[in-house]
Amino acid sequence: MQALTQRVKQVDRKPMTLLERIYLWNIVKGMFITFMHIFKKKPTIRYPEQKRQFSSVFRGLHVLNRDEEGRERCTACGLCAVACPAEAITMEAAERLDSEEHLYREEKYAAKYEINMLRCIFCGLCEEACPKDAIYLSETFAPANFSRKGFIYDKSDLLIPNVKTESADFAKAKGL
Ligand code: SF4
Ligand code: SF4
Repeated sequence: MQALTQRVKQVDRKPMTLLERIYLWNIVKGMFITFMHIFKKKPTIRYPEQKRQFSSVFRGLHVLNRDEEGRERCTACGLCAVACPAEAITMEAAERLDSEEHLYREEKYAAKYEINMLRCIFCGLCEEACPKDAIYLSETFAPANFSRKGFIYDKSDLLIPNVKTESADFAKAKGL
């Protein structure tokens, strides 16, 4: 029969020797390889006790930003949701009342803002699309969870602590 390629290899059907039949040599060889790996530098780390150094361009969990007076920057314009290729962002806009000027920077704000972390691919397009510097991707990542619902992050999960009223939490969130 004509071969389709030049890589045809004749199968060697030699009978096994006694040493090959008892597998002892192969076991010794395997154990030797395992033993040699004990002295090699391990590529794994003991997470969470040890943490890996992230790249300077690492994109992690989202943070909803506040301005220097502690007011929410997001104006619920929806540009981040439109830019999101994974359709992970949903929001509901509301109008700011006169008595809420100290809470929200713009006349319109996000009454509800959610990101589905199971959909998110951490591309950072939401951050780039935002005209208000209201969202950025931090250097932490979403912790593991047993339920899908736990990966829907709402405003209370995403909003950075208020620099005026929760200064210690704010510094911790900023890694200061
Ligand atoms: S990082 Fe990318 S995928 Fe995740 S919410 Fe932002 S735009 Fe969507
Ligand atoms: S985070 Fe930015 S882009 Fe998204 S709705 Fe708020 S202001 Fe608009």
